Amino acid sequence: MPNTPNDPSRPAILLRDTRLLIGGEWTSARSGQTFESVDPSTGQVIARLARGGEADIDDAVAAARRAFEGPWRGTKPVERQRLLLAIADLIDRHREELAYLQSLEFGGPISVVRAGMSRPTGLLRFYAGLATAIHGETIENSLPGHFLSYALKEPIGVVGAITPWNGPLSVCITKIAPAIAAGCTVVLKPSEEASLAAVRLGELAVEAGVPPGVLNIVTGAGDAGAALAAHPGVDKLGFTGSTVTGQAIIRASAGNVKRLSLELGGKSPDIVFADADLDAAARGAAMAVFANSGQICCAGSRLLVERSIHDEFVERVAAVGRSLKIGHSLDPATQIGPLVSRKQLDRVCGYLDAGPREGAQLVSGGNRCDDDALRDGFFVPPTVFAGVRNDMRIAREEIFGPVISAIPFDDADQALAIANDTPFGLGAGVWTRDVKKAHRVSGALRSGTVWINCYLQMDPSIPFGGYRMSGYGREFGTRHIDEFMQLKSVVLDMG
Ligand code: ADP
Repeated sequence: MPNTPNDPSRPAILLRDTRLLIGGEWTSARSGQTFESVDPSTGQVIARLARGGEADIDDAVAAARRAFEGPWRGTKPVERQRLLLAIADLIDRHREELAYLQSLEFGGPISVVRAGMSRPTGLLRFYAGLATAIHGETIENSLPGHFLSYALKEPIGVVGAITPWNGPLSVCITKIAPAIAAGCTVVLKPSEEASLAAVRLGELAVEAGVPPGVLNIVTGAGDAGAALAAHPGVDKLGFTGSTVTGQAIIRASAGNVKRLSLELGGKSPDIVFADADLDAAARGAAMAVFANSGQICCAGSRLLVERSIHDEFVERVAAVGRSLKIGHSLDPATQIGPLVSRKQLDRVCGYLDAGPREGAQLVSGGNRCDDDALRDGFFVPPTVFAGVRNDMRIAREEIFGPVISAIPFDDADQALAIANDTPFGLGAGVWTRDVKKAHRVSGALRSGTVWINCYLQMDPSIPFGGYRMSGYGREFGTRHIDEFMQLKSVVLDMG
């Protein structure tokens, strides 16, 4: 698809115009409207995409329904497995191009995105395995007489998927692959900030032999997402994004009581005890937020540090941040790329102002990068605030930028009280050499994942999702596929 330059640090260029994938055809939006994709490292336009709206969502859902009720319905698990494996093989063959597209469109450093390219293929191969491992159960019952009872699993139908920008390929695959494995059909609405990799994924899926209508892709903005969330023809919707949008989706979904799974925001605590391996903890706690410029839903953005080591440890974390090279996402030396958009830059800068206003002390970073090379892009340096209270906005609200709010604590009980005092519950970290303390604290943390002496370690086999306002449903793990299936009970009178 793109003119991938041999030298990936070459300035961004217009890649091409892209279209919508509906019923196996690439079409313009019915309205004829388009929108621009911007390189966040430079602010330059890199592509023009079809702007799908309600009418295009209608068409895509109709195509998905036709496919679901057509020959796709009879597809054997092994055939669905073959399709997913074929997509994975094609991604392997186009790794460099897909890494380039993602890095360019959302600003992830190319070295990091490249190193992460085994994740989308790993996900596809994991779900390909699950496609041939679906089974219902026979059930012993106590009915009077002789009745055979069993439960069948059936694909739920047409699945809507709405994704964010912060890991474009993997997050789209996390929504699409289990749906295809289960025998569903899909309408994907990728983020307007990062749709190029999703469109390329659609092309590869077609090349792999995914039948028309099984995967539809409607690029566009929030109105297209809202139309999908409200659509009566969608049986289940998977969403990853902000809690506010998740709440709008819950309301929109009520019309046909569609099943939802929501992976929403977080304000995850990362708890460092004085007895931890502090070298590992400093690096781990820094990258738990600075990776991806903090645009990670489970970023450990509230750094809780035992008081006896607080000042020294916070300085070490800040030093890790200062050592990271900020630059154009396609520069192989870059460790910190830009935020995805001007809107996100303004949002994060609002929190950089709010921190000191509420009494937090700035330890490092704190202002948008404005030197010549970075001025046109949306760059914020790794930032650390100390002396933060858990009731400040920078401790309560998701910033989605490279900003750490450090909070001291005196003992494990106080750490837990602060950690759990949040409306969210997505990730959490515990750093200690004391195994009993690690177990006690991780058991008492109210979050979907707890990392002990590590952070952000994720694998297709390990379930991921939120407590409380971080959402519901779990992605990954063997049970993820159940989110895409109905359970039908059958009772047969054998008398
Ligand atoms: P952000 O604004 O930070 O990008 P969102 O949660 O709003 O985060 O966006 C995530 C995804 O949700 C994007 O694909 C976006 O287009 C979509 N979206 C935005 N608003 C709505 C909505 N009201 N209903 C459904 N999807 C939406």
